[in-house]
Amino acid sequence: MLVTFYGVRGSIPTPGAEFVKYGGNTACVHIALDDGTNIVLDSGTGIRNLGKQLIQINSPIHLLLSHNHWDHIQGFPFFAPLYQPGREIYITPGLTDEHRPEGILEQMNGSFFPVPREALAANVEIQQYDEDSWMIGDAKIHRLLMNHPGGGSCYSIEYKNRKLAYITDNELYPPYKKNTDFLDFVTFAKDADLLIHDAQYVIQDMPEKSGWGHSVAEEAVKLSLACDVKQLALYSHDPEREDHLIDEIVDNASFIIEVGGGKTVCFGAKEGLSLKL
Ligand SMILES: [Zn+2]
Repeated sequence: MLVTFYGVRGSIPTPGAEFVKYGGNTACVHIALDDGTNIVLDSGTGIRNLGKQLIQINSPIHLLLSHNHWDHIQGFPFFAPLYQPGREIYITPGLTDEHRPEGILEQMNGSFFPVPREALAANVEIQQYDEDSWMIGDAKIHRLLMNHPGGGSCYSIEYKNRKLAYITDNELYPPYKKNTDFLDFVTFAKDADLLIHDAQYVIQDMPEKSGWGHSVAEEAVKLSLACDVKQLALYSHDPEREDHLIDEIVDNASFIIEVGGGKTVCFGAKEGLSLKL
């Protein structure tokens, strides 16, 4: 599978010269399977640029949503394949505390966005699953509840002996009652070729941001080591975090892994970066 980052920023888009290295668009990751099937993780503003690529091909699109917070659905109305007649788009909503599986479409109501959902040319289907694992083509999908205000889902994708785990927005050690324990995340992401994990905060952000639903980067490092993953992508960068400060977080994380004797390669998720797993 080919994994490409289209949006890596948390909370709100961040245009500006201080953010060009990692990018300012909110959550969106594309996975192309070998047969052309597209799996898209979240629909933040990054999905707009992805849409420009996807209208050049006509294969089905499977959008897996973590939750309905704005930074994960805001790009959806600007996703060009929605306006392609007959384009197959399947949406799996996150398992949020408030059951609102069509939340992403509800923003297209004429008030929040001028084009109503009824006017979409594509065949858009909401797919809900009772079980926490299912297949998309030859890819096996697993789902797990994340720790975040309002709840939501994280996903793993296993395909041709490769594994990716996508865990954002997730607070590994929340002060509120957690949905999922650290050790269950370890089982979930164990031996992944790529773990994409929320790393919005640094230790100095605490305790002020405890309970906001995101993790300290060093906690994501701890998870990656416990899972023995090959690569760790630090994800969901804070909107205030300028490029040079993300560089520092990545350097610090890599140093911790190195002194601990870990083999995991750590990097900051960056718009436009593609990885072949
Ligand atoms: Zn959120």
